[in-house]
Amino acid sequence: MQFTGRRRKLTVHPQNELYGHCLQLYGQPPLENISLSEFETFAVERLKLLKTVENLGVSYVKMSEQYSKKLHAEISSLHFPHRPEVDESSLNKSQAVPTEYEKRRKDHISHFILRLAYCQTEDLRRWFIQQEMDLFRHRFTDLPPKFKTEFLHRNNLKYDTISVEEKKNLKDQLINSSYGFSGTTVVEQDFYKVPFQDALDLVRMRKVFLQGGYAYIPHQEIVTIVLNDFRTRLSKALALTARSLPAVQSDERLQPLLNHLSHAYVGQDYSIQKNIGKVSLEQIDALSAKSFPLCMRQLHKALRDNHHLRHGGRMQYGLFLKGIGLTLEQALQFWRSEFIRGKVDADKFDKAYAYSIRHMFGKEGKRTDYTPYSCMKVILSNPPSQGDYHGCPFRHSDPELLKQKLQSYKLSPSGIVQILDLVKGMHYQLACQKYFELTHNIEDAGFSLNHPNQYFMESQKLLGGGREIKKEVEMPQKVQENTTANGASVQPQPNTTQAMEEMGDLDSYFLDE
Ligand code: SF4
Repeated sequence: MQFTGRRRKLTVHPQNELYGHCLQLYGQPPLENISLSEFETFAVERLKLLKTVENLGVSYVKMSEQYSKKLHAEISSLHFPHRPEVDESSLNKSQAVPTEYEKRRKDHISHFILRLAYCQTEDLRRWFIQQEMDLFRHRFTDLPPKFKTEFLHRNNLKYDTISVEEKKNLKDQLINSSYGFSGTTVVEQDFYKVPFQDALDLVRMRKVFLQGGYAYIPHQEIVTIVLNDFRTRLSKALALTARSLPAVQSDERLQPLLNHLSHAYVGQDYSIQKNIGKVSLEQIDALSAKSFPLCMRQLHKALRDNHHLRHGGRMQYGLFLKGIGLTLEQALQFWRSEFIRGKVDADKFDKAYAYSIRHMFGKEGKRTDYTPYSCMKVILSNPPSQGDYHGCPFRHSDPELLKQKLQSYKLSPSGIVQILDLVKGMHYQLACQKYFELTHNIEDAGFSLNHPNQYFMESQKLLGGGREIKKEVEMPQKVQENTTANGASVQPQPNTTQAMEEMGDLDSYFLDE
C-alpha cells in the first residue's frame, strides 16, 4: 500500500482542507488577516503551552502516564486541539465557541507566530524545535491508529506497508527484531518499509528489522519517522523564516512584539508595587540569603563587596528590589549608602545615579512604572562580560564556578549533581527551582519558576515571612484573570509591546561612568 496523496474529500468549508485533521505539519502559512490583539493572544498561549511541555519533560518521564495526563490537561485548558473524534459540523465557523475549527486555527496561526519570534538565534531555534517536537509526539501518539493513517495520507508521507506475502516470508525476523511481537500480532499489524536512513533512531536502538537498505517498522513506531520528518521540515522552515526577518522587523508594530515573545514571561506581573514599603533596608542582607534567587543573591553580594555594580547589575537588581517592595526613598538610600562606601562620593552619586533610580520608579522621563526582569529576559538578553555580576548564574556561570558556589552555600553533593545535570540540559529555570527546593528543604516547589520576584514571593510564603506581601500581591495570573467565566477565551498581557519599548528606553539612562 502506498500513501500517495490519496486525500479525503472534504466538502464542508474550503478552510477544512487546511484544518481537516486535528494534527498538522504546518506546511502552509496562514494567509488570512488577523488583529494584533489576536496575534498576541495566540502567541502568548502557545508559549505557555510550550513552557508546560518543557517543564513536564524534565519533571516526568516523557510519554509516561502522568506526563501525558498533565499535558493533555494543559492542551485542553488552553483550547488547543487534541481529540480527533470531532463532529465535522463543528468545523463550521458559524458554530458557537470554542469550536474545533477555532482550536485548529489557533494551533496553526500560533505556531507560525512563534516561528517568527523563535527563528532569531540558534538557542531560540533549538528550544522551539525541542518543545514543538515533544508536543507533536504527544499529540501524534495519542491518536487512534485510524487517525494516524489519515494523518499520513493527508500529508503525503509515502511510506509503503509491506504485503501480506512479504510479511509471511519475514515473519520470524519481524518477531525477533520488534519488541513484544508474536506471530499473531505480526499478522495483524501493518509494517512500513522505509529507507534505513529515515529511521536511524530506530536502527540505533535496534528496534527494527533491516534488509536491503530498508527498515521494517511496526505501526506503533512510525511516530519516530514522522517526528524526524517534522524536525527536518521545522528546522528548514526556521532557517528560511530567519532570512525573511529583516522584512518582518521593518514592521514597527510587529518587531517589538516578536522580540518580547522570544524573551517572554507568561505569568504574574511583578511591576505593580502592591507590596511597596513592606521590606526594610535592614532586612535585605538576611533576605538575600534566605529568599533571593541565586542571580539576586550574587548581585547583592557583589554590591556589598565592591560597593558598586555596573549598569546591567543595577538594572536587574534595582528592578528586583523595587518589585519586592522597596520605596523610591529606600532605594535611593540603599544605593547611595553602598556606593559612597566605594569610590563614588555623595555629590557624584546624586548627579550620576540618583536620576536613573528615580527614572526606574517612574518619577522621571516618561514616568513609566518599569517591570522587574523575568527569567527569560535575564537568561536570553545582555549576557554578562568580565566585571559584570548580572545575568543568570545557571545560564552564564562556568559550571565549575557554579559548583563551587553551590558548595559554599552548603548544598548536598547529590543536589549539586542534579542542578548541574539540569544546567547541562539547558533547563536553567528548572535548575533554579531545584536550588529553591534544596535551600528550602522541600521535595517539590509546587510552582513553575518564571521570575526572580516569583522566587522571592514563594520563598516568603513558605518561610511564613511574607503574609503581608503575599496578601497584597497574590492575585490571579494575568492570563487567568482574563479568562471568561466559561473559560472560552484568554486575553494577552496588556501593553507588552509598550513595555518592551519602555525597557529599551530605560537602558539609556543607566550608562556607566
Ligand atoms: Fe534568577 Fe531566574 Fe536564573 Fe533563577 S532562573 S537565577 S530566578 S534568572
